[in-house]
Amino acid sequence: MEHVTTPSWAMFAYLVSGVLFILALRGLSSPATSRAGNRYGMIGMVIAVATTLVTHEIAGLPEIIGALAIGGGIGFVIARRIAMTAMPQLVAAFHSLVGMAAVLVGWAAYLNPEAFGIAEGGQIHAQSCIEMGLGIAIGAITFSGSIIAFLKLAGKMSGAPIMLPGRHVINLGTIIAILSLVGYFTVDQSLWVIGLISLLAFIIGFLLIIPIGGADMPVVVSMLNSYSGWAAAAMGFTLHNTAMIITGALVGSSGAILSYIMCKAMNRGFLSVIAGGFGAAPEAGAGGAPKEQRPWKRGSAEDAAFLMKEAESVIIIPGYGMAVSQAQHALREMGDVLKKEGVSVKYAIHPVAGRMPGHMNVLLAEANVPYDEVFELEDINSEFGQCDVAFIIGANDVVNPAAKTDKSSPIYGMPVFDVEKAKTVMFVKRSMGGVGYSGVDNDVFYMDQTMMLLADAKKMVEDIVKALAH
Ligand code: NDP
Repeated sequence: MEHVTTPSWAMFAYLVSGVLFILALRGLSSPATSRAGNRYGMIGMVIAVATTLVTHEIAGLPEIIGALAIGGGIGFVIARRIAMTAMPQLVAAFHSLVGMAAVLVGWAAYLNPEAFGIAEGGQIHAQSCIEMGLGIAIGAITFSGSIIAFLKLAGKMSGAPIMLPGRHVINLGTIIAILSLVGYFTVDQSLWVIGLISLLAFIIGFLLIIPIGGADMPVVVSMLNSYSGWAAAAMGFTLHNTAMIITGALVGSSGAILSYIMCKAMNRGFLSVIAGGFGAAPEAGAGGAPKEQRPWKRGSAEDAAFLMKEAESVIIIPGYGMAVSQAQHALREMGDVLKKEGVSVKYAIHPVAGRMPGHMNVLLAEANVPYDEVFELEDINSEFGQCDVAFIIGANDVVNPAAKTDKSSPIYGMPVFDVEKAKTVMFVKRSMGGVGYSGVDNDVFYMDQTMMLLADAKKMVEDIVKALAH
């Protein structure tokens, strides 16, 4: 029973990797320390994996190296090829693998409990039954939920919520059935019990995510992240592996905290997001009258350069479109030129801008935008009233005033930047027809002080930089 009696040096090694994981999370909390944080995490993971391989006779060395080479090779190729804009769906796809791994480990333990040290005389310990049952259930929910999130984020499935009639009753009933079956599993370890737990959990993962749509996806991404952690922690108990319990709990709780932060950013109750139905398809007229009937003004790079050069303060609001066109480097250059002209330049980042938590912070850090020029929503929103130019680049939902006024809007209630208070508003986007993630039109496009700069974001900013030089 080597699982039960892990040597004390190995326990110590697991403790060290646990501490390194905590340092990693600490490091990741600020862009300035995130590289160091990543490094701590990698060292911790190497220690944990090496310790597990040395202390457990899991498989022969050739098998392990073979598996590492295949899995690592696929991961390496995907990581090299993936476009930055496809990261959110990649993260969702990876969460689904964590969920599936938990299900498979649970099934392996069920089929061969003696090898896992969780059974005596063919009877699995009651405690292990609960750990295993919950681990499989959470893993299966993570798996199917993440697949739906992947399809929605990749645009392979409509982002609009799909609402089944009576879904609350179906969902609640299924969850109660799963929990009851996990309890029943302690007395009856037949194949059908664990089979039914797995099946129902796969179905509920699917049902829980399809009704969540539009702007609420950030919460789903972080929630599934959290689930994948709890699934791993539950499997850590089954495998008697302390490192897995610690790591799973860290992922689970940090994901839960992130979900809470995202909910706060969206001004949504966590339970109401889970229950789904927000982000409903925009009703006709949401966001004002149909766009083609309303006048709007188009500006050129030269107009934008002229106005910004004359300005005292410019606040830049980046969004998903900046990531699509990879405009961050050109944008920093524009900021540098403006600062040389004596203009105050600040960047305003909305917590759900882009397509994954921290998306904009990562891109701006990559372009070496100084951290002290980057502000969170609550720290900068009061400044729009005194600002000369709000320069919105590839953002839409996070600057849409419908969130404040239009109860029928799918983003109603989400705090947004008060860009309409700025003297001049500049919108960089490709066309008037393009909408944001939640699919609603934006009244700010048609306001008197708004100038539409229609072009690819990077191209437009490069042209503005050129115009500023003249
Ligand atoms: P939006 O999705 O609201 O808007 C993106 C804008 O970028 C559109 O107006 C689009 O218009 C424009 N755009 C796209 N490509 C380009 C390009 N190459 N050049 C210039 N403009 C471009 O982005 P926001 O960042 O404002 O909002 C984020 C939304 O995504 C929120 O609804 C949020 O809830 C959701 N979301 C966020 C996640 C997260 O974790 N942060 C995860 C999942 C969803 P056009 O097509 O005309 O160019």
